Amino acid sequence: MTDCLFCKIVAGDIPSKKVFEDEDHYAFWDIAPKAPVHVLLIPKQHIVNLYQMDDSHQPLVQAMMSKAPSIAKAMGLDEGFRLVLNTGPGGGQEVDHIHAHILGDVRKATWSGF
Ligand code: IMP
Repeated sequence: MTDCLFCKIVAGDIPSKKVFEDEDHYAFWDIAPKAPVHVLLIPKQHIVNLYQMDDSHQPLVQAMMSKAPSIAKAMGLDEGFRLVLNTGPGGGQEVDHIHAHILGDVRKATWSGF
């Protein structure tokens, strides 16, 4: 989708601080971190959110979840991490491309919105 911020990040049209990439997924630092570690993990394919998923999207979304722990470990989060998927305006979703927030060291977070 040409108008999607995260599709533009995947395409390299908007710069990002990449922490992980493979054929199907991309992870990068959140531009406004809410915790000492705050990474966004997304499928490269444009999927709006959990409500907008169809059966064909399930493997990509499931794989996104299963890749989160290794990305968190690579970020040094040996003690654990928080995974958040805001879904729709009622869930606080601002960017309409499904993304998992990987948050680490949350006890030091200044924002309690999650
Ligand atoms: P949402 O509220 O769950 O949709 O989260 C969107 C997240 O994207 C927020 O935490 C923003 O700080 C983050 N964000 C917005 N624009 C950019 C950007 O250009 N690069 C990286 N993160 C961004």
